[in-house]
Amino acid sequence: MSRPSTLLRSSILLLLAAVALPLLGRAAPAQDVGEPLCGDCETTGKVEHAHSSSALEQEEGVIFCSAFMRSDPEALGMDWIVCPKCRTPSVQESARAEFDREFGRRKKWLEDREANVDAHAGHEVEHIRTKHFLIAFDLPKIKVGRRVLRTHDAMHLYAERLEELHAQMLMIHGITERNTAGLVHEIYIFEKDLTTRRVGNHVLSAGMGSGFRKSQYGRTSQHITSRNKKDFRKDEDFHQALVHSVSHLITNEIGIQKTWLLKRYGWVHVGMAHWFEIRNFGPPNTWCHQEQGNFVHWKGDSWEANVKKALAAGDEVKFQAIVGRASETLDSKDHQFAWSFVDYLMWLDPHKMVKFLTLLKGPQLEDRDALKEAYGITVGQFVDGWTDFVKTHYSARPGKGPRVLPPKGSG
Ligand SMILES: [Zn+2]
Ligand SMILES: [Zn+2]
Ligand SMILES: [Zn+2]
Repeated sequence: MSRPSTLLRSSILLLLAAVALPLLGRAAPAQDVGEPLCGDCETTGKVEHAHSSSALEQEEGVIFCSAFMRSDPEALGMDWIVCPKCRTPSVQESARAEFDREFGRRKKWLEDREANVDAHAGHEVEHIRTKHFLIAFDLPKIKVGRRVLRTHDAMHLYAERLEELHAQMLMIHGITERNTAGLVHEIYIFEKDLTTRRVGNHVLSAGMGSGFRKSQYGRTSQHITSRNKKDFRKDEDFHQALVHSVSHLITNEIGIQKTWLLKRYGWVHVGMAHWFEIRNFGPPNTWCHQEQGNFVHWKGDSWEANVKKALAAGDEVKFQAIVGRASETLDSKDHQFAWSFVDYLMWLDPHKMVKFLTLLKGPQLEDRDALKEAYGITVGQFVDGWTDFVKTHYSARPGKGPRVLPPKGSG
């Protein structure tokens, strides 16, 4: 009926060109230019570079590991190398370009770590990069139950533990990575306070000061700590403290990465960290550098029992007295009530906590307005609901181990 219009014809030509171009851009198959095939590499330019199955198992899911790289100077942990006596020069050449790129990426990562950390520590430190964490790990060994793990194995265990915490926090809040700032959290773990201070003064923009533990929640999310024997007798104690500190980092990136919790909403800042500590371990053992509790316990180990008894005696910390205060102004009794207020919100609906955190950190709403918008309750309803919750769900008898309280709607 009608011939294709000029426009349509040129579209067809463009389409043909688009199909043809990638073919032209690709290297011609070896046999076309008279190159022989290579039996060593099946004409791929790559041959296998073997690692032990135990090493492969350990490194699975890990992006970079310094110990694995350092044990393999030839390929820095890659599982292939360039076919050394390749009979097909063109494929060997493109494999070499690919190898050099990947090898260079790994080498640069390791050199950066060495310049930023090892050089300041004054000795070789191990490093691991997983999906959400970049960890410098400098403990010679740890004892987990009856097993002694040397540095490399211990580092992998800590990387797994932190990834598990990350996954747990997202799961409990009912979110995915899309609801976080997607940061890579930098964690530095040393044995000696002196090393912590030396490296901390370099890697933290605000410097380290005199403590043995510090976090920074800015554009970079960082935590540096010593695992000194006087504060952490057992590996489990240190693990617990790290979960506390790293849960601060992750809470700060949920919804939006802003640092206001620490300064304006101290009860949420400390309450959330203690919540994950108690959820996973039991009685808290951790106050951060910026927090004033100093391991002084207000009453006994069981915060649940302490809060319940205080409330029954009319000696509770009032919610209205705790809002609007910085973390550093809260004492150890305040910490326990901050935990309990957060515990109530996490019981009401842990998914709504995401919106609550976002409203505090982003537009910095007043606590009461954020409660209204995220949870649909007034301060009066919050206080009444919390009072009922403590009376109904808290036990006056001290419990042991992780405390798991299923949220309200979970049946
Ligand atoms: Zn490794
Ligand atoms: Zn070959
Ligand atoms: Zn803390």
